Amino acid sequence: MDLNKYIRDVVDYPKKGIIFKDLTPLWKDKDAFHQAVVLMAEKVKHEDIDLIVGAESRGFLIGAALAFYMGKGFITVRKPNKLPCKTISAEYELEYGKNILYMHEDAIKQGDKVLIVDDLIATGGTAVAMIDMTKRLGGEIIGSAFVVELAFLNGRQAISDYPVHSLLTY
Ligand code: AMP
Repeated sequence: MDLNKYIRDVVDYPKKGIIFKDLTPLWKDKDAFHQAVVLMAEKVKHEDIDLIVGAESRGFLIGAALAFYMGKGFITVRKPNKLPCKTISAEYELEYGKNILYMHEDAIKQGDKVLIVDDLIATGGTAVAMIDMTKRLGGEIIGSAFVVELAFLNGRQAISDYPVHSLLTY
């Protein structure tokens, strides 16, 4: 099954000059969605993982599905004013703007082994923020996994201290 067929290019969204990779056709197709989760699980199945960390909101789709499939817990990384308890935060640059993300400060405990997951890696800023917060809470980064990697934006380099997995590279 060619998962590329389920990714739609949207030109000049959300800003001129950006080609947005729309994964909604992939989430919609039960076989493509299933395949993406299975392939991602394959890549990390030999790793000792306690928790999967994923960012709002597209990262929840693949992250929660992968966590469920692999029998792991899932930690939600969220935008401002969404998490109800005490949080820590990390600010970062996006391909198209600036952003700040939050995590509950009791989400991860010392020594938890964490896989970082998102639908797509562009500049790597989101992944760096998730790694930064996870480490500040004492988590151990096992690696990261993405459905799509925009290789021309070099996000992989920003997180190259740990193994980086992706299913589709553009
Ligand atoms: P980055 O932090 O630059 O690696 O960007 C990754 C995050 O932004 C992911 O959560 C993506 O959902 C989103 N994103 C950034 N660029 C794109 C793009 N060209 N197409 C689709 N999503 C993108």
